[in-house]
Amino acid sequence: MKKIILLVFCITAKYCSAQNLIITNVNVIPIEGKETLLKNQTVIIKDGKIESTTPFKQEHTKDKSKTIIDGTGKYLMPGMADMHVHFPNEKDIPLQQFFKFNLAAGVTTLRSMRGEPRHLTLRDSITKKLILAPDLYISISLPSDSTITDKDLEKFVKQSKKEGWDFIKYISGLTPTLFYTTALISKESGLKMAGHVYNQDLQTAIKANQASVEHYQSILKEFRKDSLHFPDVMNQLKERNIYVCPTLSFYYIWGMQYGADDLKERNGMKYINIELLSKWEKEYDDYYSKYNTPAKEEERLKTIARVKQSLYDFGKLLKRMSDANVKLLLSPDESAFNVPGFAMAEEMKLYQKAGLSNAAILKIVTYNAACFFNKENEWGSIAKNKRANLILLDKNPLDDIDNIKTINTVILGGKVLKPEDLLKK
Ligand SMILES: [Zn+2]
Repeated sequence: MKKIILLVFCITAKYCSAQNLIITNVNVIPIEGKETLLKNQTVIIKDGKIESTTPFKQEHTKDKSKTIIDGTGKYLMPGMADMHVHFPNEKDIPLQQFFKFNLAAGVTTLRSMRGEPRHLTLRDSITKKLILAPDLYISISLPSDSTITDKDLEKFVKQSKKEGWDFIKYISGLTPTLFYTTALISKESGLKMAGHVYNQDLQTAIKANQASVEHYQSILKEFRKDSLHFPDVMNQLKERNIYVCPTLSFYYIWGMQYGADDLKERNGMKYINIELLSKWEKEYDDYYSKYNTPAKEEERLKTIARVKQSLYDFGKLLKRMSDANVKLLLSPDESAFNVPGFAMAEEMKLYQKAGLSNAAILKIVTYNAACFFNKENEWGSIAKNKRANLILLDKNPLDDIDNIKTINTVILGGKVLKPEDLLKK
């Protein structure tokens, strides 16, 4: 199976080789540094890395030694990172299509939240450029059966480190003592532990110095417990370098915040085939069949109102955290009606709805993600020697975050990719 995948990906040589590029007369959104927008620049890319960004001169368009991309009127920013990914069921979306969806939507880095042993080989094939895919960071889930001991967990963490997993994911289970012990062993081994919040108690994640907390509920719960205490909570998150990845889209979808038509019109839905669409619709209908009697209608409306209030309240906290420089991450999570890669634009719109500036949102999906992995010197912004994972947009996302959908070209480690080619059936 793997061999077949490699063949398919490498059949067109252009996917397998990086080019030396010169992007002329382009507006650059560097993300890092004082300026949010540098107008009319020339960006040179060599051996998969950014070599320079300098003011545009007409003579740059005559450089025959490189492939020239005319950036006139366009906007160049770093590729995005989806920080909470689960690989789809191969029958629904084959892996190669999943990667292509992400790339076509401008996602050049994925953080996988639930690893299987085969992902180690997969990541290595991506690193060796044998597979066309976004850069991949992988996690392995902590075992949680009730008979597990601290010795088992220590062995597990050390083995995971040895095998080369990028971080450990906590899902559920374990006693508080075992949870803290594992957190400590992870820290000592230099392997991050990220994931769900133990018993939805944010204080546990804080005490354990968890690398990131997933989903929004534990933050809202902590606020509702003692709202005056929230500035202290934000300080603790900052001091301990704990990232927050609320995955709002998932809860907007399953909390019935979108109508049936809204769901079908979400970004990228036109690329979803009819079989998968029917499957998603059935999954959604089955889940809500519990409300399918007139007597249950009131309960349904109450649930919608309750979720709406929670998401509204959390939105205010998201804005406060952003203003206070708590490190935020962004992902729609895996779900029906979240089209891989394309749903990032939907999640970004929810951050905008919460009041975050477009510049802040762009930084979250690029630079913050790199910082999470301590890779901010390697990628996540447009600066010398950074990996050339870039997206060229027809319209300025600083004016309107929805312009993130106007992707003209994606550059992955210096390879030029066109969304229309990636999305070809
Ligand atoms: Zn998830």
